[in-house]
Amino acid sequence: MIERGRLFIISGPSGVGKDTILNKFLPMSSNCKRAITATTRTPRLGEVHGAHYYFYSREEFLQMAENGELLEYTEYNGNLYGPPKKGVEEIQNSGKNVILEIEVHGGLKVKKMYPESVLVFIVAPSWKVLEQRLRDRGTESEQDIQTRLKNARFELSKAHEYNYIIINDVLERCCERLGAVISAAGCEERHMKSFIESLRLPPL
Ligand code: ADP
Ligand code: 5GP
Repeated sequence: MIERGRLFIISGPSGVGKDTILNKFLPMSSNCKRAITATTRTPRLGEVHGAHYYFYSREEFLQMAENGELLEYTEYNGNLYGPPKKGVEEIQNSGKNVILEIEVHGGLKVKKMYPESVLVFIVAPSWKVLEQRLRDRGTESEQDIQTRLKNARFELSKAHEYNYIIINDVLERCCERLGAVISAAGCEERHMKSFIESLRLPPL
């Protein structure tokens, strides 16, 4: 029987490098897969439905929520975001760990519903670096950057509710730390019970 994959939530302020980390980490990881989430946000240049997000109208999104098709959903910067349950379950049933990159409210909601999930919070080495990364990305207006920085203050105040905190200083080092967290979570006693029970000890 395939052991079900575990659920990892990755959160952190906008611009901290979550996408960059996952884009580097996931191709190197054979036992983790990212679940695509749904949103009512307008696609950015180059974003594709089904690859970056599932893009829906507000009506379509709310219908999915009403049908109970979303693991959770949250309003962020005026747009709705939520992970479809189907995608998450498919990955877990295949035996792979699910990586969900979602904001803090959603992360904490998921943790309440699935206490066995592992919450990982990504931080920049300093506030200045965070602001610089957000600006250098060049994808948001000044007004949007200010809103994201305001949200970042709130998000940082919730970091202590996460299981692990990883500093994204040097990208490679950050990916190594994420790999270490995922390996360590797999070795937790609660996941090793059936293995210990399966050991056939020779008679004394
Ligand atoms: P998020 O997904 O958290 O909003 P991004 O992955 O889009 O953030 O990263 C924001 C910007 O920071 C991007 O321009 C990215 O290239 C840059 N960046 C990410 N990680 C690092 C790093 N370790 N060192 C320097 N720049 C980084
Ligand atoms: P962006 O608009 O920059 O792609 O994402 C904005 C924020 O929404 C990010 O912090 C991202 O992690 C978060 N996000 C993406 N999908 C989901 C989701 O399904 N649920 C929640 N709660 N947040 C999400």
